[in-house]
Amino acid sequence: MQTTADFTIIGAGVIGLMTARELRQSGATVTVLDQNAAGQESSWAGGGILLPLYPWRQAEAITRLVMHSLALYPTLMETLLADTGMDPEWTPCGLLMTQNPDIGAATAWCQNNHIRYAEATAAQLEPFCSAAINPLWLPDIAQARNPRLLQALKQDVFNKGVQLIEHCQVTGFTRQQDRINTLNTTQGDFSPGQLVIASGAWTGMLFEQLLPSILGQPQIAPIKGQMLVFAAKPGLLPSIVLDGDRYLIPRRDGNILAGSTVEQEGFDKTATALAKQQLHSFATELMPTLARYPLIAHWAGLRPGTAQGIPYIGKHPVIGNLSINAGHFRNGLVMAPASAQMLADILLGRPTALASSPYQLDSPH
Ligand SMILES: Cc1cc2nc3c(=O)[nH]c(=O)nc-3n(C[C@H](O)[C@H](O)[C@H](O)COP(=O)(O)OP(=O)(O)OC[C@H]3O[C@@H](n4cnc5c(N)ncnc54)[C@H](O)[C@@H]3O)c2cc1C
Repeated sequence: MQTTADFTIIGAGVIGLMTARELRQSGATVTVLDQNAAGQESSWAGGGILLPLYPWRQAEAITRLVMHSLALYPTLMETLLADTGMDPEWTPCGLLMTQNPDIGAATAWCQNNHIRYAEATAAQLEPFCSAAINPLWLPDIAQARNPRLLQALKQDVFNKGVQLIEHCQVTGFTRQQDRINTLNTTQGDFSPGQLVIASGAWTGMLFEQLLPSILGQPQIAPIKGQMLVFAAKPGLLPSIVLDGDRYLIPRRDGNILAGSTVEQEGFDKTATALAKQQLHSFATELMPTLARYPLIAHWAGLRPGTAQGIPYIGKHPVIGNLSINAGHFRNGLVMAPASAQMLADILLGRPTALASSPYQLDSPH
């Protein structure tokens, strides 16, 4: 039996790695296990927009984590770049939202949260064939190039002394009363101290299969999202553009992502011809010049879906050495810094920056 660290985290996505980083910075020893290579699931597949789509339609509990994360992001990105030499390409390129029938709610939300906004100009809208409704321009909204963010995080936690064990699937737990005292994995058994489940879309299944019939089951299900990439040129699209429920995201190297679908297909991650055609039509109808550029990638990822998109962050009510940081649905990249900080503060007995009650297992999610 391998004795692991003060904290063992199951899942090396953005949530698990940022939680590991926070805990390690306090001096604790941390082990992170992942059934895959680190950072290759939803956190890799996402778009990296650092704002929920139409944030004024989201629950207040989401806004609080988003706003706190937005305050943390610039320094975090700068530090990661300085410490690892890997650039997560945090870019405040702005967000153009072409259709806002609920403009009153939109501007009230921006005012309440000190997000700068303006009516989009005709020049900004000119490249797009969209039936614009109250088009809105949010100049300070940023993106991160999430695959690079995950690479930098992986390097950073490694440099800081976190033990990262990849290709290690957790297959069982042995409980003694209200404690998990053994973790069974494909690389042998571990004796965990505090255990954190940050297993993204697999979290609900992990509880159902490995901890059946305990009170306090998170309701998290996989929601598939597909994305396309065009090899366009730098400057063709200056900002993120959101049109209805789909968007385009320009990377610094000129690539443009078109996303995304929202599908309930269980754990099937197949990238389908239908979604490819739908996303291609969306992108080229919205921005006809895109049709000139080749498609270079198409993928699918599994979001950790909850009914309202509110994540579970906190201690398990029954099992004393178990906690959870999962269920971030469509906004895990933007909510990650605040979520990681909140769980680390709870586990280390420090005051939390935000009230933690909306994220507890027994609150509505
Ligand atoms: C197409 C798409 C677009 C998106 N766009 C955005 C966006 O623009 N902005 C935004 O904020 N969010 C976006 N998201 C959502 C965001 O990507 C997720 O909310 C976030 O990545 C969740 O992070 P996570 O660490 O919880 O999950 P993951 O990154 O999936 O990590 C969970 C990890 O747990 C591991 N694991 C699971 N079970 C086990 C086990 N039994 N043993 C060991 N390891 C295990 C997995 O291998 C995985 O690496 C998007 C998602 C998709 C799919």
